[in-house]
Amino acid sequence: MNRFTLPRDLYYGKHSLEFLKELKGKKAILVLGGGSMKRFGFVDKVLSYLKEAGIETTLFENVEPDPSVETVMKGAAAMREFNPDWIIAMGGGSPIDAAKAMWAFYEYPDTTFEDLITPFNFPTLRTKAKFLAIPSTSGTATEVTAFSVITDYEKGIKYPLADFNITPDIAIVDPDLAETMPPKLTAHTGMDALTHAIEAYVSTLHSPFTDPLALKAIHMVFEYLNDSYNGDMNAREQMHYAQCLAGMAFSNALLGIVHSMAHKTGAAFSTGHIPHGCANAIYLPYVIQYNAKNTKERYAEIARSVGITGSDDECVDLLCEKINDYNKKLNIPATLKEFGIVEEEFLSKVDEIAKLAVDDACTGSNPRPITPEQMAELLKCTYYGTKVDF
Ligand code: FE
Repeated sequence: MNRFTLPRDLYYGKHSLEFLKELKGKKAILVLGGGSMKRFGFVDKVLSYLKEAGIETTLFENVEPDPSVETVMKGAAAMREFNPDWIIAMGGGSPIDAAKAMWAFYEYPDTTFEDLITPFNFPTLRTKAKFLAIPSTSGTATEVTAFSVITDYEKGIKYPLADFNITPDIAIVDPDLAETMPPKLTAHTGMDALTHAIEAYVSTLHSPFTDPLALKAIHMVFEYLNDSYNGDMNAREQMHYAQCLAGMAFSNALLGIVHSMAHKTGAAFSTGHIPHGCANAIYLPYVIQYNAKNTKERYAEIARSVGITGSDDECVDLLCEKINDYNKKLNIPATLKEFGIVEEEFLSKVDEIAKLAVDDACTGSNPRPITPEQMAELLKCTYYGTKVDF
């Protein structure tokens, strides 16, 4: 038996934030990130709309990027004190991811992260509150997905939480919020969305329900990302929807080794963090070359859906070229070397990173199996920019 789960309602379009005036409930806790939503006036709007709806509110602010276990526990305690029947998370991926985990600990104070990391093993939520998500970036699509990533800084572990219980009840996809993104973030989150859609389309768990969402998202990213990056706000709006479609696809079809590699290299080097979407953008063409050894037809279908013609092999090559062109236009480096990772450090760590990447939760649904040795070779290709021929 398979399952396909999405939020019950999705409100979208300019000013769709105003839906909050009609929300039915008593008390809402608003979970926020570092302050940009406040600076741009969106927090005031949300508070006035909820007031109009007759809902009492409190704020939980300053969720950090890559939210920590401590922040989640603090938020859950604030929820237990305030007793909301709505959890409203607004901002980038981090406050929304954190709020999803807070929700679990609000409803089940005695549970532990160790209990929650087994995929699709959550206790039944919605005994106390429902969940509404409002994204301000166009990439993670956490507003429609069953995922959340929480970091235990003490143990140096990222907990990827996955369960349809944490798929939000309502998502508000209002492009007004995405207008606040700076160009670099627009580029990185946009390529993250493209990676979500492409990985979902070729995933071993893809289905007739996820394929059309993935293909449409891919088509829209190629059509709108460049203009969105260059400040065209109509294109920015379309990208906000495209990333959401990609999220609907990958929440149900899962991902592949581009994400495994991005997860395990993101914080691995002393020269600094590789932003998630940037890492995905670098790895994507190399992983397509690797996976195409047994998934050529699926990549060729993607290529043809965006107007590329030729044999399956030609289509795969041209799709990689198209992604490389986009990376160039978006000022994303083509290799880890170009990104600035030091060669000696890379070579000293690559075998260990390869093992961790193979063990990542996203490897299981990748269309072609991979050994740690192959993964190390693949990572070396992404470092030096060499063609993947194994
Ligand atoms: Fe991602």
